[in-house]
Amino acid sequence: MLGQMMDMPLLVSSILRHAARHFGETEVVSRRVEGNLHRYTYAHCEQRSRQLASALQKAGITDGDRVATIAWNGYRHLELYYGVGGMGAVIHTINPRLHPEQIAWILNHAEDRIVAFDITFLPLIEAVAPRCPNVKRWLAMIDPDRQPAGSKVPGMANYEEFLAGGDTAWRWPSFDENTAVALCYTSGTTGNPKGALYSHRSTVLHAYAAALPDAMAASARDAILPVVPMFHVNAWGIPFTGPLVGAKLVLPGPQMDGKSLYELFEAEGVSFAAGVPTVWLGLLNHIEGNQLRFSSLNRTVIGGSACPPAMIQAFREKYGVDVIHAWGMTEMSPLGTLSRLQNKHLSLPPESQRKLLEKQGHTVFGVDMKIVDDTGNELPWDGRTYGNLLVRGPWVITNYFKSEDEDPLQYDSEGQGWFPTGDVATIDEDGFMHITDRSKDVIKSGGEWISSIELENLAIAHPAVANAAVIGVAHPKWDERPLLIVAKKPGAEVTAADILAIYEGRIAKWWTPDDVQFVDAIPLGATGKILKTKLREQFKDYRLPTA
Ligand code: AMP
Repeated sequence: MLGQMMDMPLLVSSILRHAARHFGETEVVSRRVEGNLHRYTYAHCEQRSRQLASALQKAGITDGDRVATIAWNGYRHLELYYGVGGMGAVIHTINPRLHPEQIAWILNHAEDRIVAFDITFLPLIEAVAPRCPNVKRWLAMIDPDRQPAGSKVPGMANYEEFLAGGDTAWRWPSFDENTAVALCYTSGTTGNPKGALYSHRSTVLHAYAAALPDAMAASARDAILPVVPMFHVNAWGIPFTGPLVGAKLVLPGPQMDGKSLYELFEAEGVSFAAGVPTVWLGLLNHIEGNQLRFSSLNRTVIGGSACPPAMIQAFREKYGVDVIHAWGMTEMSPLGTLSRLQNKHLSLPPESQRKLLEKQGHTVFGVDMKIVDDTGNELPWDGRTYGNLLVRGPWVITNYFKSEDEDPLQYDSEGQGWFPTGDVATIDEDGFMHITDRSKDVIKSGGEWISSIELENLAIAHPAVANAAVIGVAHPKWDERPLLIVAKKPGAEVTAADILAIYEGRIAKWWTPDDVQFVDAIPLGATGKILKTKLREQFKDYRLPTA
């Protein structure tokens, strides 16, 4: 027997419609590339998002088409989230920090029809556009009177003028909640980046879960500032969670240095912020250096990389700001776990509480997790045994975009599929997960991926190099930085600088290894694969010159 409830699909447009109808006066404040602060209400945001959707439809965008953005956190980007997704197309957010060649590859792989970009990225767009003939329109997100004249980009138009061509009476359509809404590429362990394709249903459920009291505890009393970029896993879902609860949104645009962020926090009464550890280092330095206090900030979600315990302590003990350490990944929309104390932990001594809060935390309803050994057997939750971390849930991917013939899942004895995260973790008796290592071969610097394999492939192409390996080494500012380890060919004369020169122009500059160390031989396993574990052990006391 079926229940007798209304059949209303979970669509992202319903979130913005709700915000406009029930929190119509609540503000979205953005720092713009034009330099000033822009403010409007959810009612106005919803109206412009609908108008944009209508303009997209007039331009021939239809169900399932991809529309890309290369943009900071701002109100126009928010309109694109809802306008593109709400009409049944797919909003594809691209990380501008990637190398132009990689961006062109991603644009072509996703078959994006339109790209909207902040004018900051015009040089990047000029480099990429000739390689992407299938993109029909490049929309510059800037006031029309500030649009640079004489661009070399074919099909370049102005976002505001494009939007003005839409119909303000246009209404959100209803369709299947399993329709795709957003696409995010992540640098995988091997080869090219891979796309995670979210559905309306997964996005709305994730937004609900993120708002829960033991997750972000988001409410209509909050002013939320996502420092985490809207091109990084949809800014952890905040552009959906904020309007869902009726919170004020504060979007920092291109200025994410400590001083600019602090000024925005104070001016807009920000109560809650979210970002990777590196961003907070800049903010804490600014506050400490100028003996400032937060007058409204009461909590922050820190994730994307392990949050240093000293940072948690500084926020809590010096500034009275609760740090919620969180873990997730692009393939999980991204929320998986958050570290928040439970009733029984409140009587624990402060040191034990601190240890719990340093872990990546407890799962939210919607995500199940387990640790397994290399043959897939589940391991005990004792806080000591570590294993490969697997997850499942309605906002976890089943496979990657356009790789539907490959199945990344691992199946248990009941035939349930689990997504292997590539993280290695322990889980304690209370279900608190702690990441201890990574089995995937990537490095995370300032919350962004660096592919060790790509760096190794380039190094090996050097005529003096017999074999090369890249590992991540701890760095106080960036969390990890790449170290290149090289075994030279017999008799070869080569310096570190010679080898590093091969990276020039071939990769994003910030991917270049911080140092080169020479060894007699790179350790290999039985199947000929580089033994990274052995190298990490060998270099455990090594300190980078940049650290
Ligand atoms: P991304 O898809 O870029 O969000 O990266 C996800 C990966 O970042 C995870 O699989 C982890 O390896 C790492 N990560 C995310 N959050 C944390 C955290 N709190 N502590 C340690 N590693 C993390």
